[in-house]
Amino acid sequence: MEILQNISLKPYNTFGIDVRATFFINVKTIEELQLLSSEPFFTGNKKLILGGGSNILFTKDFHGLVLKTALKGIELIREDTNHYYVSVKAGEDWHGFVLKSIQQQWQGLENLSLIPGTVGAAPIQNIGAYGVEVADYIEEVKALEIKSGELQSFNAAACKFGYRNSIFKQELKGKYLIYEVVFRLNKIPKYNITYAPLKAALQEIDQEKLSAKHISDAVIKIRQSKLPDPEVIGNCGSFFKNPIVEEAIGQALLEKYPQMPNYAVGQGAMKIPAAWLIEQAGLKGSREGQVGTYQKQALVMVNHGNATGKEAHSFAKKIITKVNDTFGITLEPEVNIL
Ligand SMILES: Cc1cc2nc3c(=O)[nH]c(=O)nc-3n(C[C@H](O)[C@H](O)[C@H](O)COP(=O)(O)OP(=O)(O)OC[C@H]3O[C@@H](n4cnc5c(N)ncnc54)[C@H](O)[C@@H]3O)c2cc1C
Repeated sequence: MEILQNISLKPYNTFGIDVRATFFINVKTIEELQLLSSEPFFTGNKKLILGGGSNILFTKDFHGLVLKTALKGIELIREDTNHYYVSVKAGEDWHGFVLKSIQQQWQGLENLSLIPGTVGAAPIQNIGAYGVEVADYIEEVKALEIKSGELQSFNAAACKFGYRNSIFKQELKGKYLIYEVVFRLNKIPKYNITYAPLKAALQEIDQEKLSAKHISDAVIKIRQSKLPDPEVIGNCGSFFKNPIVEEAIGQALLEKYPQMPNYAVGQGAMKIPAAWLIEQAGLKGSREGQVGTYQKQALVMVNHGNATGKEAHSFAKKIITKVNDTFGITLEPEVNIL
Protein backbone atom coordinates (compact mmCIF):
# COMPACT_ATOMS: atom_id res chain seq x y z
CA MET A 1 0.00 0.00 0.00
CA GLU A 2 1.62 3.23 -1.14
CA ILE A 3 1.46 6.23 1.17
CA LEU A 4 1.62 9.48 -0.81
CA GLN A 5 2.69 12.66 0.97
CA ASN A 6 1.83 16.34 0.72
CA ILE A 7 -0.40 16.02 -2.32
CA SER A 8 -2.83 18.49 -3.83
CA LEU A 9 -6.50 17.51 -3.50
CA LYS A 10 -7.52 19.70 -6.44
CA PRO A 11 -7.99 16.72 -8.80
CA TYR A 12 -9.94 14.92 -6.08
CA ASN A 13 -12.80 17.37 -5.46
CA THR A 14 -15.30 18.52 -8.08
CA PHE A 15 -15.38 22.10 -6.74
CA GLY A 16 -11.70 22.25 -7.74
CA ILE A 17 -10.33 23.62 -4.47
CA ASP A 18 -6.57 23.48 -4.22
CA VAL A 19 -5.77 22.30 -0.70
CA ARG A 20 -3.16 19.75 0.35
CA ALA A 21 -3.32 16.51 2.32
CA THR A 22 -0.41 15.40 4.49
CA PHE A 23 -0.89 11.71 3.62
CA PHE A 24 -2.99 10.01 0.94
CA ILE A 25 -3.71 6.33 0.31
CA ASN A 26 -5.63 4.70 -2.50
CA VAL A 27 -7.51 1.92 -0.67
CA LYS A 28 -7.74 -0.96 -3.14
CA THR A 29 -8.66 -3.83 -0.81
CA ILE A 30 -10.30 -3.91 2.58
CA GLU A 31 -7.79 -6.47 3.84
CA GLU A 32 -4.85 -4.05 3.40
CA LEU A 33 -6.79 -1.37 5.25
CA GLN A 34 -7.54 -3.78 8.07
CA LEU A 35 -3.84 -4.58 8.38
CA LEU A 36 -2.96 -0.88 8.41
CA SER A 37 -5.66 0.04 10.93
CA SER A 38 -3.67 -1.10 13.98
CA GLU A 39 -0.44 0.66 12.94
CA PRO A 40 0.58 3.75 14.98
CA PHE A 41 0.80 5.74 11.72
CA PHE A 42 -2.88 5.00 11.11
CA THR A 43 -4.17 5.45 14.65
CA GLY A 44 -2.05 8.58 15.19
CA ASN A 45 -3.41 10.53 12.25
CA LYS A 46 -6.74 12.22 11.69
CA LYS A 47 -8.52 10.49 8.79
CA LEU A 48 -10.77 11.55 5.93
CA ILE A 49 -12.60 9.07 3.72
CA LEU A 50 -12.81 10.35 0.17
CA GLY A 51 -14.87 9.04 -2.73
CA GLY A 52 -15.20 11.22 -5.83
CA GLY A 53 -15.07 14.46 -3.82
CA SER A 54 -18.36 15.63 -5.35
CA ASN A 55 -20.06 16.45 -2.06
CA ILE A 56 -17.18 18.12 -0.22
CA LEU A 57 -16.04 21.71 0.10
CA PHE A 58 -12.47 21.93 1.37
CA THR A 59 -11.80 25.17 3.23
CA LYS A 60 -8.30 24.33 4.42
CA ASP A 61 -5.44 21.84 4.07
CA PHE A 62 -6.17 18.43 5.53
CA HIS A 63 -3.55 17.64 8.19
CA GLY A 64 -3.98 13.91 8.31
CA LEU A 65 -4.53 10.82 6.21
CA VAL A 66 -6.91 10.74 3.25
CA LEU A 67 -8.32 7.28 2.52
CA LYS A 68 -9.48 7.35 -1.10
CA THR A 69 -11.83 4.47 -1.87
CA ALA A 70 -10.47 2.66 -4.93
CA LEU A 71 -12.02 -0.79 -4.37
CA LYS A 72 -13.56 -2.17 -7.57
CA GLY A 73 -16.01 -4.90 -8.51
CA ILE A 74 -19.68 -5.48 -9.42
CA GLU A 75 -21.15 -8.93 -8.83
CA LEU A 76 -24.60 -10.49 -9.00
CA ILE A 77 -24.56 -12.54 -5.80
CA ARG A 78 -28.05 -14.05 -5.73
CA GLU A 79 -31.59 -13.73 -6.99
CA ASP A 80 -35.11 -14.62 -5.90
CA THR A 81 -38.48 -14.46 -7.64
CA ASN A 82 -38.65 -10.68 -7.76
CA HIS A 83 -35.14 -9.39 -7.19
CA TYR A 84 -31.50 -9.43 -8.16
CA TYR A 85 -29.01 -8.86 -5.35
CA VAL A 86 -25.94 -7.09 -6.64
CA SER A 87 -22.82 -6.45 -4.58
CA VAL A 88 -20.77 -3.43 -5.57
CA LYS A 89 -17.42 -2.26 -4.19
CA ALA A 90 -17.21 1.27 -2.83
CA GLY A 91 -14.80 2.73 -5.39
CA GLU A 92 -16.99 1.98 -8.41
CA ASP A 93 -18.23 5.06 -10.21
CA TRP A 94 -21.92 5.54 -9.38
CA HIS A 95 -23.09 6.45 -12.89
CA GLY A 96 -21.02 3.63 -14.41
CA PHE A 97 -22.82 1.20 -12.12
CA VAL A 98 -26.23 2.65 -13.00
CA LEU A 99 -25.49 2.19 -16.71
CA LYS A 100 -24.38 -1.38 -16.09
CA SER A 101 -27.55 -2.11 -14.09
CA ILE A 102 -29.66 -0.84 -17.00
CA GLN A 103 -27.72 -2.97 -19.45
CA GLN A 104 -28.19 -6.05 -17.23
CA GLN A 105 -31.90 -5.27 -16.68
CA TRP A 106 -31.40 -4.93 -12.94
CA GLN A 107 -34.19 -2.38 -12.52
CA GLY A 108 -34.67 0.60 -10.23
CA LEU A 109 -31.71 2.94 -10.40
CA GLU A 110 -32.44 4.59 -13.75
CA ASN A 111 -33.72 7.86 -12.21
CA LEU A 112 -30.38 8.21 -10.41
CA SER A 113 -28.37 8.39 -13.65
CA LEU A 114 -25.50 10.85 -13.94
CA ILE A 115 -25.14 11.60 -10.23
CA PRO A 116 -21.39 12.07 -9.73
CA GLY A 117 -19.41 10.16 -7.12
CA THR A 118 -18.77 6.66 -5.93
CA VAL A 119 -21.01 3.76 -4.91
CA GLY A 120 -19.56 3.81 -1.38
CA ALA A 121 -20.74 7.38 -0.82
CA ALA A 122 -24.26 6.81 -2.17
CA PRO A 123 -25.72 5.61 1.17
CA ILE A 124 -24.01 8.39 3.16
CA GLN A 125 -26.46 11.08 2.13
CA ASN A 126 -29.00 8.68 0.61
CA ILE A 127 -28.59 10.14 -2.86
CA GLY A 128 -31.79 10.96 -4.62
CA ALA A 129 -33.17 12.51 -7.77
CA TYR A 130 -36.37 12.63 -9.83
CA GLY A 131 -38.53 10.99 -7.18
CA VAL A 132 -36.19 8.11 -6.29
CA GLU A 133 -33.79 7.61 -3.37
CA VAL A 134 -31.04 5.02 -3.30
CA ALA A 135 -32.34 3.82 0.10
CA ASP A 136 -35.25 2.16 -1.74
CA TYR A 137 -32.78 -0.25 -3.36
CA ILE A 138 -30.25 -0.89 -0.60
CA GLU A 139 -30.24 -4.34 0.98
CA GLU A 140 -27.04 -4.10 3.00
CA VAL A 141 -24.12 -1.77 3.63
CA LYS A 142 -20.79 -3.32 4.57
CA ALA A 143 -18.39 -1.09 6.47
CA LEU A 144 -15.11 -1.16 8.33
CA GLU A 145 -15.02 0.52 11.71
CA ILE A 146 -12.04 2.85 11.49
CA LYS A 147 -11.20 2.63 15.21
CA SER A 148 -11.22 -1.17 15.56
CA GLY A 149 -10.65 -2.35 11.97
CA GLU A 150 -13.69 -4.63 12.43
CA LEU A 151 -16.09 -5.34 9.61
CA GLN A 152 -19.79 -4.73 10.17
CA SER A 153 -22.98 -5.13 8.20
CA PHE A 154 -25.88 -2.67 8.31
CA ASN A 155 -29.29 -3.54 6.91
CA ALA A 156 -31.41 -0.73 5.47
CA ALA A 157 -33.22 -0.10 8.78
CA ALA A 158 -29.90 0.20 10.63
CA CYS A 159 -28.75 2.83 8.12
CA LYS A 160 -31.58 5.15 9.35
CA PHE A 161 -32.06 6.64 5.91
CA GLY A 162 -33.83 9.98 5.61
CA TYR A 163 -33.94 12.88 3.16
CA ARG A 164 -30.25 13.32 2.14
CA ASN A 165 -29.39 11.66 5.38
CA SER A 166 -28.33 8.44 7.08
CA ILE A 167 -26.66 7.23 10.25
CA PHE A 168 -23.33 7.66 8.42
CA LYS A 169 -23.93 11.40 8.16
CA GLN A 170 -25.06 11.64 11.78
CA GLU A 171 -23.90 9.62 14.80
CA LEU A 172 -21.49 7.44 12.80
CA LYS A 173 -20.03 10.29 10.72
CA GLY A 174 -16.40 9.55 9.89
CA LYS A 175 -16.41 6.40 12.02
CA TYR A 176 -16.95 3.80 9.30
CA LEU A 177 -15.55 3.29 5.83
CA ILE A 178 -18.19 1.77 3.59
CA TYR A 179 -16.39 -0.76 1.42
CA GLU A 180 -19.31 -2.54 -0.28
CA VAL A 181 -23.02 -2.02 -0.90
CA VAL A 182 -25.51 -4.78 -1.74
CA PHE A 183 -28.41 -3.55 -3.88
CA ARG A 184 -31.80 -5.24 -4.20
CA LEU A 185 -32.92 -4.51 -7.75
CA ASN A 186 -36.19 -5.38 -9.43
CA LYS A 187 -36.77 -8.09 -11.99
CA ILE A 188 -40.12 -6.59 -12.91
CA PRO A 189 -39.77 -2.88 -13.62
CA LYS A 190 -41.67 -0.34 -11.49
CA TYR A 191 -40.88 2.90 -13.25
CA ASN A 192 -41.22 6.20 -11.44
CA ILE A 193 -41.94 9.07 -13.79
CA THR A 194 -43.92 11.20 -11.38
CA TYR A 195 -41.45 14.09 -11.64
CA ALA A 196 -43.17 16.45 -14.10
CA PRO A 197 -40.24 17.37 -16.41
CA LEU A 198 -39.31 13.68 -16.67
CA LYS A 199 -42.89 12.75 -17.52
CA ALA A 200 -42.94 15.50 -20.16
CA ALA A 201 -39.64 14.32 -21.66
CA LEU A 202 -41.05 10.79 -22.01
CA GLN A 203 -44.39 11.80 -23.50
CA GLU A 204 -43.44 10.73 -27.00
CA ILE A 205 -42.55 7.20 -25.90
CA ASP A 206 -45.21 4.53 -26.21
CA GLN A 207 -45.86 3.67 -22.52
CA GLU A 208 -46.04 -0.04 -23.39
CA LYS A 209 -42.47 0.17 -24.65
CA LEU A 210 -41.08 2.39 -21.89
CA SER A 211 -37.72 1.08 -20.63
CA ALA A 212 -35.15 1.93 -17.98
CA LYS A 213 -32.87 3.09 -20.80
CA HIS A 214 -35.50 5.60 -21.97
CA ILE A 215 -35.78 6.97 -18.44
CA SER A 216 -32.01 7.11 -17.95
CA ASP A 217 -31.51 8.90 -21.28
CA ALA A 218 -34.21 11.43 -20.40
CA VAL A 219 -32.74 12.02 -16.92
CA ILE A 220 -29.27 12.52 -18.43
CA LYS A 221 -30.64 15.02 -20.93
CA ILE A 222 -32.51 17.02 -18.28
CA ARG A 223 -29.51 17.03 -15.95
CA GLN A 224 -27.15 18.13 -18.71
CA SER A 225 -29.48 20.98 -19.65
CA LYS A 226 -29.64 22.48 -16.17
CA LEU A 227 -26.63 21.38 -14.12
CA PRO A 228 -23.04 22.45 -14.72
CA ASP A 229 -20.58 19.69 -15.63
CA PRO A 230 -17.88 19.68 -12.91
CA GLU A 231 -15.31 18.91 -15.62
CA VAL A 232 -16.12 22.29 -17.16
CA ILE A 233 -17.07 24.42 -14.16
CA GLY A 234 -16.25 23.41 -10.59
CA ASN A 235 -19.25 22.69 -8.37
CA CYS A 236 -20.57 20.16 -5.89
CA GLY A 237 -24.17 19.93 -7.05
CA SER A 238 -26.94 21.26 -4.80
CA PHE A 239 -25.15 23.19 -2.10
CA PHE A 240 -28.12 23.34 0.29
CA LYS A 241 -30.87 20.94 1.32
CA ASN A 242 -34.45 21.85 0.50
CA PRO A 243 -35.76 23.13 3.84
CA ILE A 244 -38.61 21.31 5.53
CA VAL A 245 -40.77 23.64 7.61
CA GLU A 246 -43.84 23.26 9.79
CA GLU A 247 -47.10 23.48 7.86
CA ALA A 248 -48.09 26.67 9.74
CA ILE A 249 -44.87 28.43 8.77
CA GLY A 250 -45.27 27.26 5.18
CA GLN A 251 -48.88 28.51 5.06
CA ALA A 252 -47.86 31.91 6.42
CA LEU A 253 -45.23 32.19 3.71
CA LEU A 254 -47.75 31.10 1.09
CA GLU A 255 -50.02 33.97 2.07
CA LYS A 256 -47.18 36.37 1.38
CA TYR A 257 -45.80 34.48 -1.64
CA PRO A 258 -48.74 32.59 -3.24
CA GLN A 259 -46.51 31.43 -6.11
CA MET A 260 -44.07 29.66 -3.76
CA PRO A 261 -43.60 26.03 -4.83
CA ASN A 262 -44.09 23.57 -1.98
CA TYR A 263 -44.56 19.87 -1.33
CA ALA A 264 -46.38 18.26 1.56
CA VAL A 265 -44.05 15.72 3.18
CA GLY A 266 -46.39 14.39 5.87
CA GLN A 267 -46.44 14.92 9.64
CA GLY A 268 -47.64 18.50 9.18
CA ALA A 269 -44.48 19.49 7.32
CA MET A 270 -43.80 21.17 4.01
CA LYS A 271 -40.72 21.07 1.77
CA ILE A 272 -39.78 24.28 -0.03
CA PRO A 273 -37.27 24.30 -2.90
CA ALA A 274 -34.09 26.04 -1.69
CA ALA A 275 -33.40 27.09 -5.30
CA TRP A 276 -36.62 29.14 -5.32
CA LEU A 277 -35.75 30.83 -2.02
CA ILE A 278 -32.26 31.74 -3.26
CA GLU A 279 -33.63 33.01 -6.56
CA GLN A 280 -36.30 35.12 -4.85
CA ALA A 281 -33.63 36.53 -2.54
CA GLY A 282 -32.03 37.88 -5.72
CA LEU A 283 -29.01 35.60 -5.71
CA LYS A 284 -29.50 33.42 -8.80
CA GLY A 285 -26.46 33.86 -11.07
CA SER A 286 -24.86 36.24 -8.58
CA ARG A 287 -21.09 36.32 -8.25
CA GLU A 288 -18.52 37.43 -5.73
CA GLY A 289 -14.87 37.09 -6.69
CA GLN A 290 -14.31 33.58 -8.00
CA VAL A 291 -17.53 32.06 -6.63
CA GLY A 292 -21.19 32.42 -7.43
CA THR A 293 -24.48 30.66 -7.96
CA TYR A 294 -25.11 28.97 -11.30
CA GLN A 295 -27.14 31.00 -13.78
CA LYS A 296 -29.50 28.14 -14.62
CA GLN A 297 -29.85 26.70 -11.12
CA ALA A 298 -29.52 28.89 -8.04
CA LEU A 299 -28.97 25.94 -5.70
CA VAL A 300 -25.61 25.14 -7.28
CA MET A 301 -22.60 27.16 -6.21
CA VAL A 302 -19.87 27.33 -8.82
CA ASN A 303 -16.13 27.98 -8.94
CA HIS A 304 -15.50 30.58 -11.65
CA GLY A 305 -11.77 30.00 -11.59
CA ASN A 306 -9.37 29.62 -8.73
CA ALA A 307 -11.79 30.05 -5.86
CA THR A 308 -10.55 29.22 -2.40
CA GLY A 309 -12.64 27.09 -0.07
CA LYS A 310 -12.81 29.97 2.42
CA GLU A 311 -14.17 32.27 -0.28
CA ALA A 312 -16.81 29.69 -1.22
CA HIS A 313 -17.74 29.07 2.41
CA SER A 314 -18.14 32.77 3.11
CA PHE A 315 -20.35 33.13 0.00
CA ALA A 316 -22.48 30.21 1.23
CA LYS A 317 -22.88 31.95 4.59
CA LYS A 318 -24.03 35.12 2.80
CA ILE A 319 -26.69 33.11 0.95
CA ILE A 320 -27.88 31.66 4.27
CA THR A 321 -28.10 35.13 5.82
CA LYS A 322 -29.92 36.70 2.86
CA VAL A 323 -32.47 33.86 2.64
CA ASN A 324 -32.97 34.04 6.38
CA ASP A 325 -33.47 37.81 6.31
CA THR A 326 -35.98 37.47 3.45
CA PHE A 327 -37.98 34.40 4.48
CA GLY A 328 -36.99 33.55 8.05
CA ILE A 329 -35.79 30.14 6.89
CA THR A 330 -32.28 28.90 7.66
CA LEU A 331 -30.77 26.90 4.82
CA GLU A 332 -28.64 23.94 5.78
CA PRO A 333 -25.70 22.88 3.59
CA GLU A 334 -26.07 19.50 1.89
CA VAL A 335 -22.35 19.58 1.12
CA ASN A 336 -19.76 18.44 3.68
CA ILE A 337 -17.69 21.50 4.63
CA LEU A 338 -14.21 20.61 5.83
C1 LIG B 1 -23.06 18.16 -10.63
C2 LIG B 1 -23.49 17.43 -9.39
C3 LIG B 1 -24.76 16.93 -9.30
C4 LIG B 1 -25.18 16.23 -8.16
N1 LIG B 1 -26.45 15.74 -8.12
C5 LIG B 1 -26.89 15.07 -7.05
C6 LIG B 1 -28.22 14.54 -7.01
O1 LIG B 1 -28.99 14.67 -7.95
N2 LIG B 1 -28.60 13.90 -5.89
C7 LIG B 1 -27.77 13.71 -4.82
O2 LIG B 1 -28.20 13.09 -3.84
N3 LIG B 1 -26.50 14.18 -4.84
C8 LIG B 1 -26.04 14.86 -5.91
N4 LIG B 1 -24.77 15.35 -5.94
C9 LIG B 1 -23.90 15.17 -4.77
C10 LIG B 1 -22.94 13.97 -4.90
O3 LIG B 1 -22.88 13.51 -6.21
C11 LIG B 1 -23.35 12.81 -3.98
O4 LIG B 1 -23.44 13.24 -2.66
C12 LIG B 1 -22.38 11.64 -4.08
O5 LIG B 1 -22.92 10.51 -3.41
C13 LIG B 1 -21.02 11.97 -3.47
O6 LIG B 1 -20.16 10.90 -3.80
P1 LIG B 1 -18.60 11.05 -3.69
O7 LIG B 1 -18.00 9.71 -3.93
O8 LIG B 1 -18.11 12.14 -4.56
O9 LIG B 1 -18.43 11.43 -2.15
P2 LIG B 1 -17.40 12.45 -1.49
O10 LIG B 1 -17.74 13.83 -1.90
O11 LIG B 1 -16.02 11.99 -1.73
O12 LIG B 1 -17.75 12.26 0.05
C14 LIG B 1 -18.96 12.72 0.59
C15 LIG B 1 -19.03 12.36 2.08
O13 LIG B 1 -19.10 10.96 2.23
C16 LIG B 1 -17.95 10.44 2.94
N5 LIG B 1 -17.60 9.21 2.22
C17 LIG B 1 -17.33 9.08 0.90
N6 LIG B 1 -17.14 7.79 0.59
C18 LIG B 1 -17.27 7.09 1.75
C19 LIG B 1 -17.18 5.71 2.07
N7 LIG B 1 -16.91 4.77 1.15
N8 LIG B 1 -17.36 5.34 3.38
C20 LIG B 1 -17.63 6.27 4.33
N9 LIG B 1 -17.72 7.60 4.07
C21 LIG B 1 -17.55 7.99 2.79
C22 LIG B 1 -16.91 11.54 2.87
O14 LIG B 1 -16.02 11.49 3.96
C23 LIG B 1 -17.77 12.78 2.86
O15 LIG B 1 -18.17 13.09 4.18
C24 LIG B 1 -24.30 16.04 -7.07
C25 LIG B 1 -22.99 16.55 -7.16
C26 LIG B 1 -22.59 17.22 -8.31
C27 LIG B 1 -21.18 17.74 -8.40
